[in-house]
Amino acid sequence: TLSDRLTSVLTNLRGKGRLSEADIDATAREIRIALLEADVALPVVRGFIKGVKERAKGSEVSQALNPAQQVVKIVNEELVTILGGETRRLELAKNPPTVIMLAGLQGAGKTTLAGKLAKWLSGQGHTPMLVACDLQRPNAVNQLQVVGERAGVPVFAPEPGNGVGDPVQVSRDGIEEAKRAQHDMVIVDTAGRLGVDEEMMKQAADIRDAVTPDEILFVLDAMVGQDAVATAEAFRDGVGFSGVVLTKLDGDARGGAALSVREVTGQPIMFASSGEKLEDFDVFHPDRMANRILGMGDMLTLIEQAEQAFDQEEAEKAAEKLGTGQLTLEDFLEQMQAVRRMGPLQNLLGMLPGAGQMKDQLANFDEKQLDRIQAIIRGMTPAERSDPKIINASRRQRIARGSGVTVSDINDLVGRFFEARKMMQRMAGQFGGFGGGGGGS
Ligand code: GDP
Ligand code: MG
Repeated sequence: TLSDRLTSVLTNLRGKGRLSEADIDATAREIRIALLEADVALPVVRGFIKGVKERAKGSEVSQALNPAQQVVKIVNEELVTILGGETRRLELAKNPPTVIMLAGLQGAGKTTLAGKLAKWLSGQGHTPMLVACDLQRPNAVNQLQVVGERAGVPVFAPEPGNGVGDPVQVSRDGIEEAKRAQHDMVIVDTAGRLGVDEEMMKQAADIRDAVTPDEILFVLDAMVGQDAVATAEAFRDGVGFSGVVLTKLDGDARGGAALSVREVTGQPIMFASSGEKLEDFDVFHPDRMANRILGMGDMLTLIEQAEQAFDQEEAEKAAEKLGTGQLTLEDFLEQMQAVRRMGPLQNLLGMLPGAGQMKDQLANFDEKQLDRIQAIIRGMTPAERSDPKIINASRRQRIARGSGVTVSDINDLVGRFFEARKMMQRMAGQFGGFGGGGGGS
């Protein structure tokens, strides 16, 4: 797994303060191998690594994490984003029934999925019906009937004994029946072949045109590895689909197919199937898949803990400085960033006891003002941040130019900073100091 691969790189990087270009390249190399081993398609790997490298180079130096941990964190975040950036719910029809059509190769798990999805939808208060449009395999209709019975939902199927029926007609009749019986959802099961062929695509496209589905779900066996991209492209071009379902995630597939399909087709992975039983089904969780691809749950836990511990330490240090009047603009910036990570400031302040009288001020509070303050402080040198007294007129002019504000904005900020520091000192004197056993964040 990647964690094994990274161990040596990690050891080399430990103790370094900043990510060098060579460090990033070395780590990227290992991650690239891990992704390829997880069956992620090569072009997808390339694009991904490029994105990660750029982010790693531009990233601020984290003091909580060592450089390798930082890269891993970035890789994980990027994976999760790419896998789930736009995860969305099923699109419901304005006029029921909502029609969901399943497409995919034979053996991908469509018929099994039809039952799982039906059961899941029933659990959410829907009244789904299944329609058997796989008339290719002798046993396919019967298989869907069994699945439907287990899921406790009705199945619409052609009358037996009339020779090979027309799946397009069956799909049409199925929708009619669903309307008549007032089912709010219809799941249309279709035939697949072992490989992609034109006749199958045409049949699927004909069914699509007959039932105008609200969703077409492309069902993909996660075990197929590198073939996933070609199959997905064939279905995208032949039938089109609006979402992906990954099946057989209970197997030992590394999950690379997921990343490839998501990236290549741009369609979201919506559900995951992980066993033969009807219960082995869930909405898709990008973080679990990222973890599966990288195989580094332990390291991610470590990273999280390191960051939390660091925050705690920082908070205590800052509290101490507040009390002794040594607060610098650097601390101020860090605190502001920490607070902003927790959500809009208004909400946060609103939760404080005794904030009632501040309500009006809060209502006028402008988050953009914070952006400006951050920009100003970022435009200062470290020396200026730690000792704001040295910020004379010419420095003020330079900072104003650099951060796109006026000198009077700077005067304002610096003035308020000194005010705040004075006030903190007074309060500290009154209450006997900040910090110590205060609660965590
Ligand atoms: P279809 O040809 O696309 O309709 O695929 P089926 O639903 O008939 O499934 C093909 C085989 O895969 C069956 O034996 C299923 O029991 C099995 N199968 C489907 N989904 C899963 C899954 O998530 N995990 C496992 N282990 N087997 C599955
Ligand atoms: Mg089937």
